[in-house]
Amino acid sequence: MFQLPTSDQRRRLRCQLLGWFARRQRPLLWRRDRDPYRIWLSEIMLQQTRVAAVLEHYQRFLKKFPTIERLAAAREASVLAAWSGLGYYRRARMLHAAAKIVVRTLKGEFPRSGQDLQKLPGIGRYTAAAIASIAFDEPVAVVDGNVERVLQRYVGKASDMDEVWRIASSLLNKKRPGDFNQALMELGAMVCLPREPRCLLCPVADLCRSRGELPVSRAAARQIKRTVHFGLARRNGAVFLVQRGRNESLMAGMWELPDFTPNPASGHAILSLRHSITVTDYAVHVFELPGPDNATGRWIPISRVPALPLTGLARKILRRVAVIGSATPAE
Ligand code: SF4
Repeated sequence: MFQLPTSDQRRRLRCQLLGWFARRQRPLLWRRDRDPYRIWLSEIMLQQTRVAAVLEHYQRFLKKFPTIERLAAAREASVLAAWSGLGYYRRARMLHAAAKIVVRTLKGEFPRSGQDLQKLPGIGRYTAAAIASIAFDEPVAVVDGNVERVLQRYVGKASDMDEVWRIASSLLNKKRPGDFNQALMELGAMVCLPREPRCLLCPVADLCRSRGELPVSRAAARQIKRTVHFGLARRNGAVFLVQRGRNESLMAGMWELPDFTPNPASGHAILSLRHSITVTDYAVHVFELPGPDNATGRWIPISRVPALPLTGLARKILRRVAVIGSATPAE
C-alpha cells in the first residue's frame, strides 16, 4: 500500500533539495527580489510560455510598466503591445484588470494570502500559492506540471491532482516555503525531466522511490497543420492592417495583416515561414499586393506600427519584410 514519506525522509528531502537549489538554481531575473508585482508578472508570463521566451519580454515589460500603478493606469492597447510575442493575450488582459483592482479598489495593497490572491482575475490556485509563498512566506505548497511529475516519481505512484497537492503540502518546508517551492519546480525543469529524468544528477535520488522507473506519460498533443495566406500592401510610408474583432475568442482587438486568397495571377509569395500557436503549425505565405482587397482595414503609418498591439505572427512577418525593426520598443 502507498505510504507517504516518513518524517525523517521529509526532513532529508527538504535539506537536500534546498542545498541543491542554493548551489544550482538558475539566476532568473525574477529571483532577484521578492517584489510581489514582479513575481506575479513572471508567474503569469510563465504560464504556457518557455522561460527563454519570457526572459526576452519580462525586462521590456517592466521597463514600460515598472510598477503596478503604471500598469493600472495604462491603456489596454499599450499593455497588449508590450505583451506582443508572448501569445495567450487573455493573460495580459487579466493582468491589467487585476492591476486596476489592486490599485483602485484595494488602494495599492497587494493581497498577501493565497486565498485572497485567488480573488483577482487570472490568478488560480497555483499562481496564488506561488506568489504568496515566494513574496510573503505563506506556508502553502505549489503544484504545477513540473512538481506533479517530480512528486509522482518521488513517491513512486501515479496520483490524481488532489493527492499530489496533499503530498506537496506534507513535504513543504514551512520555514522557507518560497525557496522550497521554487526548488521543487527547478528540479522538475532541470533534472527530473519529462522524458529522461537525470537521476544520476538528482539531489534526492537516494530518497526517490521510482528513480525514473515510473512512466509519467501525458498524451502528446497532436499538432495540426494549416496553410494560411496574407496580403502585404504598402504605400507612401504606410502599411495596410486589419484589427481583429473585440469579441474574437483569440487575440481580440489585435492588429494583423489581411487574409488573402491567392489565384494563378498572384505570382509567388514574397515570404514564406512557419509559425506555431499551441497545437497548430502554420505554413504562412505572404503576397505583396498593390492595394488591399479588403475594405475593413486601415492604412497605418509605418512609424506607428511598432507601438500597435500586433499579433505575434504579424510582428514576425513585418520584421522579416523590414517594415519594423528587429528590436522595437513595444516588444
Ligand atoms: S531520482 Fe530521478 S525520478 Fe526520482 S526525483 Fe530524482 S530525477 Fe526524478
